[in-house]
Formats: sequence, C-alpha cells, structure tokens
Amino acid sequence: MARRTGPVCVLCRRERQKLYLKGTRCETPKCAIERRPYPPGEHGRGRIKESEYMLQLREKQKARRIYGVLEKQFRRYYQEATRAKGITGTRLLQLLEMRLDNVVYRGGLAMSRDQARQFVNHGHFQVNGKKVNIPSYHLKPGDVVEVRQKSRTVGRIVESAAFAAGRQIPEWLSLEPGELRITVLREPERDIIDVPVQEQMIVELYSK
Ligand code: SF4
Repeated sequence: MARRTGPVCVLCRRERQKLYLKGTRCETPKCAIERRPYPPGEHGRGRIKESEYMLQLREKQKARRIYGVLEKQFRRYYQEATRAKGITGTRLLQLLEMRLDNVVYRGGLAMSRDQARQFVNHGHFQVNGKKVNIPSYHLKPGDVVEVRQKSRTVGRIVESAAFAAGRQIPEWLSLEPGELRITVLREPERDIIDVPVQEQMIVELYSK
C-alpha cells in the first residue's frame, strides 16, 4: 500500500502543532515543534494571509497526516462518510479511527500509528484469529485484535507494549496487556476522539 515516506516532523511544523507522529520523541525536548515552532522553508517565519480555503485545506491535511492516509484514500473515506447515517464529519473521523493500524496504536501495542502500520504490514497481527496485514482494514465493534503467537517475542513489539502500558487506553477499546490483545467495544463518539481537527471544515472543503 502506498504511503508517504520521508521526514515527519516537518508535517507538524507545517501545521504548527504537535501531531504526535514519532512516538516517544514527541514527549521530549527534542521535538521539532519545541525547537522550531514555525513552518519549514525560506518563508516559514513570514506572515501568511489565511483565506477560508487555506484554513479548510490545512484541517484536511492535518487529519490526513495524523492518520497517515494519502489523498485518494482520504477522499474515499469522505465519500463513504457522506453515504453513512449521521454527521458526515463525525462519521469521517470514526472511519479513520476504526482502521486496524489506528486501533493497534490507540490500544497501546505500538508507539505511533506509523509503527502500528509497519507491525501490521509485517504480518504480526491477527483479527478474530485470522492474520491481517492490511493497515486500513476496517474493524467493527466486537472484533478482537491480537499479536500473533509467533510474533510475541519480537523485540519491538514487546518494547512498544511495555511503553504503552503506562498510557491511557480510550474507553471504546479494551486491552489485555498480558495477552497482547485489544477488543473493540464500540465505535468512538466524537467527544472522545482526541484529534485536534475541525472536521466540519474538511466537509466544507470537499463539498465545494
Ligand atoms: Fe511532531 Fe513528534 Fe516530530 Fe514533535 S517529535 S514534531 S510531535 S512528530
């Protein structure tokens, strides 16, 4: 599956806020936003006139970057959200949250979504007992995600799980740390999705 490669801290600097794309480093003074809290590039510190379109575009880019989704796929999520019942913006975020890589990260078995994507790609996870190596795999309430038996001793997974043990797991997921198992209890409501995105602006952008 196609994905963006290259440095990620510039993405946070572009959005002028922490998007937590690098796991542990994001909490340290080494975080690029702490040191250079302005957009990258020659004109990064200059004044930028912010039009309505630009603000909407930035919200969309921010959401894409947080979840690590390319434009084409992001638009597909939007189209699916417009067809679903409920508020389109909320539905969009829920679809993104129910991706397998996001659940592995949220559930505490990876330090970042990027790492979660890599673990899934490398075949370390199974859903309801079957190996799944598609990071965008859409989960449903009741699904059980766990590290495959043969991957339980992989150093990076053990390390990530130990790191994540101190993290707060969102209430729509249940983690059994000893079993390296996450159960999806329900879809998350908007107020517990802690992403700094104004999804209504994304809807306005795409519905032009
Ligand atoms: Fe963003 Fe993390 Fe890099 Fe800081 S360290 S700029 S939060 S990815």
